[in-house]
Formats: sequence, structure tokens, C-alpha cells
Amino acid sequence: MKQDIQGCKLMENEMTTVKTISEDKQEMTLVHYEHNFRCTSTDFQGGGYSFPCSPDGVLDEDRHNENLSLVKADPSYVDEGICFWTERVWLCSCGSGEIPQIECDARGIYLGKMCYKCRDERLSIYRPDVLTDTNYWHDEPIEEEE
Ligand SMILES: [Zn+2]
Repeated sequence: MKQDIQGCKLMENEMTTVKTISEDKQEMTLVHYEHNFRCTSTDFQGGGYSFPCSPDGVLDEDRHNENLSLVKADPSYVDEGICFWTERVWLCSCGSGEIPQIECDARGIYLGKMCYKCRDERLSIYRPDVLTDTNYWHDEPIEEEE
């Protein structure tokens, strides 16, 4: 697809990514859109640039401004059109639709993945010293990780 990049509007960064959350709120899909320009000059074989763009190909001129000027000024760059790449992110099991973080106790032992919304409640089942004191008392031997 050929597109004139001269008259592009300034786009917000969010415009280059389409975010969808699954119905059960367990998974988020991010589709990132980019506009590819390939250099046809023989002394720069295979080289090119990708610029974030909206799903309909409008470039985000706020990002990679320097390289975009370079591509615009050089006629050896061919517009290869829009491409996209998909990213899948598992969301917190509590159903908040938020991205969970790994939580560990004071000894660095994995407790689970939780988001900021359910973290306090889920960590409240542990004794406070388990979360803060690296020498917390325990009655079972803890296998130290190598
Ligand atoms: Zn959560």
C-alpha cells in the first residue's frame, strides 16, 4: 500500500496500539501497528525503518521524529505499508482486568501473581513478618534456591 507520509497528523501513542480484554478478563491482547519503510539503495541493502502508526496507517510523528525526517527526505525509501504484531498478556486471576505482578515473601519465595487491586487481600493470609522479615520463623525447612 502506497501512502503519502507528508501530510500526517500528530498522533497520540495510544493510537498505535489496539487493546482488547477477553470476556473472562483473563487475557489481554495488544496489537501494535507499524508502518514499514525499506531502503532500496544498494549500499544499504535490507535496511529500513518501522514507525508506530494507527491501525489505518496514520504515522505517529511524535516518535522517531529524526528517522522519519530522514525517510521522508530520501527517495530510496519505499513504503511497504502497515504491519502489526500481537502481544498476549495474562491478566490477574481475580478478574480485575489488571496485569499481575509476581509477589514474593521476605526470603524471596514465590507467593503468587497478583495485581494491585487484590494484592493486599491475598497477602493478608500471611503473617506480616513473612513479608517483611528475611529471618522469619518457620517450622519446616526451607529449600534455599541455588
Ligand atoms: Zn488481581
